[in-house]
Amino acid sequence: MKNVISLKDLEQMVRNGQSLSSLPPDAILTPSAREFLHDAEMNGAAANGSVAKATAGNSARVAPPGKALNSKSSKAELEALFNSPYCHNLKEQLCDIGRRLWGRAYVDGNGGNIAIRVGEDIALCTPTLVSKGFMKPEDMCLVDFEGNQLCGAKKRTSEILMHLQIMKRQPKAVATCHCHPPYSTGFAVAGLVPPTCMIPEYEVFASVAVAPYRTPGTPEMGQLVADLVDKHNTILMANHGVVSWSHNNVEDAYFKMEILEAYCRTILVTAQLGVPPKTMTAPQLQDLLRIKQSLGIPDPRHGLKECELCDNGDWRPGVSCAVPAKETAVAGYDSDAEKVVQAITEQILAQMK
Ligand SMILES: [Zn+2]
Repeated sequence: MKNVISLKDLEQMVRNGQSLSSLPPDAILTPSAREFLHDAEMNGAAANGSVAKATAGNSARVAPPGKALNSKSSKAELEALFNSPYCHNLKEQLCDIGRRLWGRAYVDGNGGNIAIRVGEDIALCTPTLVSKGFMKPEDMCLVDFEGNQLCGAKKRTSEILMHLQIMKRQPKAVATCHCHPPYSTGFAVAGLVPPTCMIPEYEVFASVAVAPYRTPGTPEMGQLVADLVDKHNTILMANHGVVSWSHNNVEDAYFKMEILEAYCRTILVTAQLGVPPKTMTAPQLQDLLRIKQSLGIPDPRHGLKECELCDNGDWRPGVSCAVPAKETAVAGYDSDAEKVVQAITEQILAQMK
């Protein structure tokens, strides 16, 4: 077998009835081959130790244990999952993302927290009172979706409810990431969604909304964030920071932070150059939204016509690119109110006669 394995090679192996676990441990996989193998592992088709070993060298994921667990599983089963190579790999990923958040100054003090779904209603998460830049795999915690700690020596993050409420509301969310990147948090403090139509990465990978301020860690805060995750994957939390979710993995949830933070910095620089920003056209934006939809990334603008993308100043005051405001709900309420006012006025007039 040759050293570099392509998608075609893997497909041929499947056609020949060969097990994917027979790949040599030092095999180098092309990106599409790696993706194929990852999907195969996720489907349980190749869930065994040797594939896990073969892919680990290519920084791919370790296959999850065969049996899917939930919060009602026995303590022994949950402990076994928590101490499995699968969870150890995810704990290392949490440490790695923590280091990257800290290295980029997206977290301060013990701020920031990260979670990864590992079952129907259970998740691994970061501990409280530990700097995200200096976490160890043994610091991590396992919680159920109510926030009860199931495993782990350290206490789970105080902000876990928000992560769990996102996962409950958005079944596609496999990982969540929360931090306080200064430029993005500046927009959150101002209560502003960054203007759109300027940088492709931002349009394709992020769908941003602002959630109102509530005390961090309260169920109320989580609720307000969860209300937005159907159409948005990156939420600016007013006067606090940012939280993102991914349907892929924890690194992808973290990438939303890099993309949003770089975008917020860039448009602040643009704003200082003394010329109005050049923006992309509606057809150009439509192109990007098509890519976004094909990647399975939500956006409230999916399905809108090109003309609708550029008609509404509410989306981005000053530069036109938009979704229509929610007039229908408001109109419904107003017309009802009008009927009540009319009925009362008629009654009063009748009594005056
Ligand atoms: Zn925070």
